[in-house]
Amino acid sequence: MGCRGVDTILPLPNLRIVIIMSDPRNVIIIGSGPAGYTAALYASRANLNPLLFEGLQPGGQLTITTDVENFPGFPEGVQGPELMQLFRKQAERFGTEIVSGHVTEVSLTEGSPFTVRTSDGEWSARTVIVSTGATARLLGLDDEDGYMGRGLSACATCDGFFFRDKEVLVVGGGDSAMEEATFLTRFCAKVTVVHRREQLRASKIMQDRALSNDKIDFIWNAGIDGYLGTPGERLTGVRLVDSNTGETRDHATDGVFLAIGHVPNTSIFEGQLPMDPQGYLLTTPGTASTELPGVFACGDVQDTVYRQAVTAAGSGCMAAIEAERWLETQEG
Ligand code: NAP
Repeated sequence: MGCRGVDTILPLPNLRIVIIMSDPRNVIIIGSGPAGYTAALYASRANLNPLLFEGLQPGGQLTITTDVENFPGFPEGVQGPELMQLFRKQAERFGTEIVSGHVTEVSLTEGSPFTVRTSDGEWSARTVIVSTGATARLLGLDDEDGYMGRGLSACATCDGFFFRDKEVLVVGGGDSAMEEATFLTRFCAKVTVVHRREQLRASKIMQDRALSNDKIDFIWNAGIDGYLGTPGERLTGVRLVDSNTGETRDHATDGVFLAIGHVPNTSIFEGQLPMDPQGYLLTTPGTASTELPGVFACGDVQDTVYRQAVTAAGSGCMAAIEAERWLETQEG
């Protein structure tokens, strides 16, 4: 970590070194997905010397996908991890300072300058851009990581194309599940929705669309109890469990799409930034501004609708431009 501007180094009783930065940074960006890196690119090109914290999953959700074929500018597609390396390189080229820390605490409510803490120290910033993203909710079953990208996916838009003429399962009963199931019928021979209850949670219009689609079947009152196949190689099926009787049976399938919701990564902002009931940050419509002057949010952490890399990048650009303009209003 660069130590420019370090004011004080205090040894704590547990011997951890705490770094306290003296001068506030113009912009601190929390999160390193397409939104965070794009905000960093724009902020650094505006000479704001942004500091970006990568977080627990450097590069964000795209680093766990393989081929990305819907990001403009890559007619042959690009690997998710490679795309994020390119985002990072471009942000660094213009002077973004990237720290591999995970922000554990923020103090925003007392106004600018704000405080951001990691396990390594504490930083001060005139503006904060939140781009901590959201994490697809998984089932938490054994070998889930080993099957991810090998028959198991949490993003039909990203991976549906690879299941052309295949039979797949979609797990969930909400709008995402109906949307993903309907989307997958463009490629797949057959889509079966597995839902743990008898009623769908999805909005009426999304339900009707899925229920009337000939290519979509439903297995009601069922959950997935385990994945079948060879972890690290290929998923070949699932073990279904009846929600009422507890009975299990094996079901062969080419792929499983989990659509059981996303969890926005906003726990550190609770009580400080307005959120919707699901925990997504609220921004003024059409902007990246939160209720707190000088604090901006972009990408999946505030997006319940699109959740695409390209829309995240666009909102990162908006956040940086709004931060730059807000800083201008604070001068003189
Ligand atoms: P959601 O509404 O929370 O639905 C999640 C679904 O997954 C529910 O049916 C839930 O079952 C099921 N589920 C959750 N945990 C599960 C588990 N461990 N095992 C099995 N099933 C589980 O999430 P979402 O569908 O992602 O939607 C999130 C928000 O985005 C909603 O407000 C939605 O309206 C919005 N959205 C809108 C659009 C659109 O308008 N185009 C598209 C997508 C999402 P239960 O029903 O039994 O709880």
